[in-house]
Amino acid sequence: NAATARPTLADLPLRPELVGEEPYGAPQLEVAVQLNVNENPYPPGPEVVADIAAAVATVAGRLNRYPDRDAWALREDLARYLGHGLTADQVWAANGSNEVMLQVLQAFGGPGRSALSFAPTYSMYPEYARDTHTRWLTAPRRADFTIDPQEAVAAVKEHAPDVVFVTSPNNPTGTAVALETLADICAAAPGVVVVDEAYVEFARTGTPSALALLPDFPRLAVSRTMSKAFAFAGGRLGYLAAAPAFVDALRIVRLPYHLSAVTQAVARVALAHADEMLAHVDLLRTERDQLATWLSEQGLEVAASDANFCLFGRFADRHRVWQALLDRDVLIRETGPDGWLRVSVGTHEEMATFTSALRQILDDPE
Ligand code: PMP
Repeated sequence: NAATARPTLADLPLRPELVGEEPYGAPQLEVAVQLNVNENPYPPGPEVVADIAAAVATVAGRLNRYPDRDAWALREDLARYLGHGLTADQVWAANGSNEVMLQVLQAFGGPGRSALSFAPTYSMYPEYARDTHTRWLTAPRRADFTIDPQEAVAAVKEHAPDVVFVTSPNNPTGTAVALETLADICAAAPGVVVVDEAYVEFARTGTPSALALLPDFPRLAVSRTMSKAFAFAGGRLGYLAAAPAFVDALRIVRLPYHLSAVTQAVARVALAHADEMLAHVDLLRTERDQLATWLSEQGLEVAASDANFCLFGRFADRHRVWQALLDRDVLIRETGPDGWLRVSVGTHEEMATFTSALRQILDDPE
């Protein structure tokens, strides 16, 4: 009967702004070559796996107890890893940088407040804004996806956003932002600025991190993740460096015990093996540059990339190209501006499969 029938979503009193929304999702498909979510293709080696297993066994015997709410030991390890003279009270951690940035908007956004970024950029920011009732604003990048410093400063002054997100290197374009541009944005911003450096380890050598700007800008935060270069996406550990007061603001909105004992222990093991976890970054950079060269040799446009992916195009029907690759067991991402596709950098063998599949598709434009 109607009272006990399983309700559909339409029967539930969902917040009106969520009606018709789909959960975030790059398709998670069982495909031989997965180049769609910018993961590091190299799994941890046997020694790291053994140490992780041992650490899990140790915490398993204490899982009746809550973990350290403030994750102090982990934050000390992260501060040491980041360098720049940072200490644990200047570092915050959560379940992926997605959670860190949601917490930033919970603390600094909200009803009557706004957040600004430079489009095209990471597709999750507007969702964090929606979920925290923060007004979402964008200013455009140049045609080559770089940020014009004067226009960026003008947009920040015009909108006076409470939060500015600058992604460097940017997703989905791979574009790094110059330190001077970041400093100009910080100087103009009336609220907080988050530089999202999820891909910074892949930047071409000589590209400095925004961590260098922290001493000059007390309302700046630099967000990082262990999901990409660090080859730890499944471990779910994102973090941020900022002034201790900024970290205190995030501690107000975090859920109690948000980082499980297992997550904290396992992330600490990975950090203790940082050199090994990052061992393939140089190789992936080289592979990225070769991929960009190959794509442009095929007569395609390629955005200059400092990340572990390339945005390329343009296609009149990008979905057809995406599907034709999938039909050849290669999964990439249909994202970014119209006509463009994004491919993550995998192993040499995976890139060979991708390039030969794409070449076939370009030769056979059905
Ligand atoms: N920032 C950017 C720019 C990203 O591309 C991603 C992941 N795709 C994230 C943050 C979030 O990553 P995670 O939650 O795994 O740390």
